[in-house]
Amino acid sequence: MTYRGRFAPSPTGPLHAGSLVAALASWLDARAHGGTWLVRIEDVDTPRCIPGADQLILQQLAACGLVSDGPVVWQSRREALYQAALDRLIAQGDAYPCACSRQDIERALLASGAPRERHQAAVYPGTCRPERGGLQGRAPRAWRFRVPDAARVDWTDRRLGPQSQDVAQAVGDFILRRADGLWAYQLAVVVDDAAQGITHVVRGEDLADNTPRQILLQRALALPTPAYRHTPLVLGENGEKLSKQNGAVALDLSDPLAALNAAARALGLAPHAGSVDSALAAWTPAWSRSAPPTN
Ligand code: GLU
Repeated sequence: MTYRGRFAPSPTGPLHAGSLVAALASWLDARAHGGTWLVRIEDVDTPRCIPGADQLILQQLAACGLVSDGPVVWQSRREALYQAALDRLIAQGDAYPCACSRQDIERALLASGAPRERHQAAVYPGTCRPERGGLQGRAPRAWRFRVPDAARVDWTDRRLGPQSQDVAQAVGDFILRRADGLWAYQLAVVVDDAAQGITHVVRGEDLADNTPRQILLQRALALPTPAYRHTPLVLGENGEKLSKQNGAVALDLSDPLAALNAAARALGLAPHAGSVDSALAAWTPAWSRSAPPTN
């Protein structure tokens, strides 16, 4: 097996202490396996991207000794790949156009008497499914993945252990291409992980819940499923997950070793006094022992 891992930040702001944990874990896991570590800039959600944040993130990573082993890729330059995947899903009957606005969806859920919500997002009630009459003359807005009826996905996370989700119940038919024409994260990440030959995904635990949707897309597109490991989240002083949205501060580039030590502590590794390079060299064998490859 040739290990290929990646770190895939969205350039919606500079790296913060939470995102460095995922970056460091994915780098250590790649090194511990003698593998390749790639950086991919996930800039498909352009309204949320901040100009220059991509370069800043790459500088922050470099200051921490984390440098991509191959060319950095930007998702905004890979639209043709996402279109090809969508075309295939449409041809197979696994994707369909949807004309519903958010209000349409809320109205349909209320009318059905069973409004279902998840993370403040309504579970799509399937109004535009082809077997329910499709668009019925309305203009298409978005494209959705047709989640199979028997869509319980079982998978084993290398840190969290056995996981299971009924995607039809929990999420419903999810968006592949948004009404504003932007590509959805789920499709772009699946296409790119496969196109880059990623064998192991190491990322923050807040993304674990997306994995079953990604596995369903991999199956529909006949793509391999990588091994997944979700890293612990770093909580801020208010007990909430650190994120750019709740104002996490950018990493301080004047002391990258201190930033790395904080990330290492979150991963259960002992802080290191020395240089960035000697710290990374010391943590690699420690990571191998604490996070053995399971597949
Ligand atoms: N771009 C996503 C983020 O920054 C990470 C996606 C992934 O690792 O799958 O939250």
